[in-house]
Amino acid sequence: MKIETKCLHEGYHPGNGEPIALPIYQSTTYVYDSTEHIGKLFDLTAEGHMYSRISNPTVGAVEDKIAALEGGVGALCTSSGQAASFISLLNIMKAGDHIISASTIYGGTINLLAVTLKRFGIECTFVDQEASEEEIQKHFRPNTKAVFGETIANPALTVLDIEKFANIAHKNNVPLIVDNTFATPVLCRPIEFGADIVIHSTSKYMDGHAVQLGGVIVDSGNFDWTNGKFPEFTEPDDSYHGIVYTEHFGKAAYIAKARVQLMRDIGAYPTAHAAFLLNLGLEALPVRIERHCRNAEKVAEYLSKSNKIESVNYPSLEGGKYSELCKKYLPLGCSGVVSFVIKGGRDTAVKFMDSLKLASNVVHVADIRTCVLHPASSTHRQLTDSQLAAAGITGGLIRFSVGLENADDIIEDIEQALANI
Ligand SMILES: *Cc1c(COP(=O)(O)O)cnc(C)c1O
Repeated sequence: MKIETKCLHEGYHPGNGEPIALPIYQSTTYVYDSTEHIGKLFDLTAEGHMYSRISNPTVGAVEDKIAALEGGVGALCTSSGQAASFISLLNIMKAGDHIISASTIYGGTINLLAVTLKRFGIECTFVDQEASEEEIQKHFRPNTKAVFGETIANPALTVLDIEKFANIAHKNNVPLIVDNTFATPVLCRPIEFGADIVIHSTSKYMDGHAVQLGGVIVDSGNFDWTNGKFPEFTEPDDSYHGIVYTEHFGKAAYIAKARVQLMRDIGAYPTAHAAFLLNLGLEALPVRIERHCRNAEKVAEYLSKSNKIESVNYPSLEGGKYSELCKKYLPLGCSGVVSFVIKGGRDTAVKFMDSLKLASNVVHVADIRTCVLHPASSTHRQLTDSQLAAAGITGGLIRFSVGLENADDIIEDIEQALANI
């Protein structure tokens, strides 16, 4: 099946006379005939739902759909994108470990890596993702356990050379984790280029309507956890009578461990209703994404001709730094997000934003409606000047998330706001 078909038909397969829409199983728990059966669930020797902190039939259908979209062996939904990032890393890291991350990533992930995980005893080195393999190799340590990057970075809009990053990670026997939020599996499937784990904030395009926060972790099933670097997969887990994840779950060891161990302990699982809403977003995702891309291309074109704009950043713009990588990784388009630097710096940027009438001034992105954000004074205000520079953000930078309105109306709004500064 092609991706459009998978978005509609994977995950939920109604039988004769059953509802065509995914049912919401609004239940915390599941009933069994015998204590023996429940005992087997706790020993992980029988399959089945036990408690909705770990799994739920509605959420499970959406997990299966997203795993199919990304080409993975399994997926785990989380209650937010941040929970997905956190659990995806904690699943393979402990105090004393180290991670290498691209520096141009989402501000919330920078906080997680540089501040919160540091308090857990996990260190992060941020690298310039344009650096050569040799340059990045120098940052590896014996305790490095993962490499991290974003397909299209929020908000810097850098494009990750996924194959290069996968090569470096695999040479060092560690997995590559890719945050594919902006691209979505419609535009790029990182597993096809060597990524081992793919994560998303589903709060963005996947949901698409600004109604439900969520995240997801997808396991490619390709990484060899028995290579000696990841004893937590090959040594007995005392909390399950000594099961060994790689023996018990084979190719799906990573995603199974994330669910039965970490989700059990942390409890950041989405509700059935949240998964139902996410599924609605996924059903029409390819149609929406295509229009987001076409509208954004028109807006980027317009902005690049305006003399009030210092620079426009849209990865596929001809002659731009990333136009070649886009042809390889994002041939269908590179999402609805455009960023630009307005001449005059921070104050002019704020005046421009306040002059917009159609575009909404919100702390959100990748919505069906056009929305706009000033990273330096909002999402990234916690970062120091040097962290801001490393994340590719200046005072005049505006992140413009092009929605599904008619492109002429969006451009007219920008035009009148530019006339006002
Ligand atoms: C928004 C976002 C996150 C965090 O997701 P939440 O759902 O807001 O917790 C992580 N990564 C990227 C690229 C994002 O855009």
